[in-house]
Amino acid sequence: MKKAVVVLSGGLDSTTCMGMAKEKGYDLYPITFHYGQRHNIEVEQAKKVASSYEVMDHRIVDLSFLQQIGGSALTDDTIDVPTEATDDIPSTYVPARNMIFLALASAYAEVIGATAIYIGVSAVDYSGYPDCRPEFIQSMTETVNLATKLGVTSETPLSIETPLIHLTKKETIEEGLRLGVPYELTTSCYNGGTKACGECDSCKLRIKGFKEAGAKDPIPYMIPIEWN
Ligand code: ZN
Repeated sequence: MKKAVVVLSGGLDSTTCMGMAKEKGYDLYPITFHYGQRHNIEVEQAKKVASSYEVMDHRIVDLSFLQQIGGSALTDDTIDVPTEATDDIPSTYVPARNMIFLALASAYAEVIGATAIYIGVSAVDYSGYPDCRPEFIQSMTETVNLATKLGVTSETPLSIETPLIHLTKKETIEEGLRLGVPYELTTSCYNGGTKACGECDSCKLRIKGFKEAGAKDPIPYMIPIEWN
């Protein structure tokens, strides 16, 4: 069986990637990063998602260094999570997060003999993060193949699969619903309560996506939401 490492945050996008990798016939090896995120409830949700997919192994990686250095509203309590979109890179950007995640995922992939890494970045309905752009993924693919034994000796290079990169949130959700992705186990809220706030940038994107897909989000919200 071919193997894929899935960068699994416990959010909507990465969980959809689990469903997509499964459909492609991969054995799933999710990896979840605990980096002191404000919404660290997502690590618990990631465990539930991994269980529901009966994965081969689920690694939880401690990256508390990212919290020690801060520099993001997601890792520093003194920086507020914004409620409005901005033209600039928002304060929820975490310094070099996806580069660090993909570097560690590629090391893991090499050890277990995986040929693909799935990561749920989107360049469409994204928050302006530089490490969600296709040019970064392309560059990182070259880098991980230059940096690893796998890249040098294997006939098939390690691929970084970004099946959501050109999808809107609506399209991602439609695809996930078709695949039976367990959205009730996912969390997207940056504020990280047991109920989603419904007001942060991430909640707004998620709610809009479900509405446009003509579906009701199965997770609870702190404020009333008008579903279609
Ligand atoms: Zn929220």
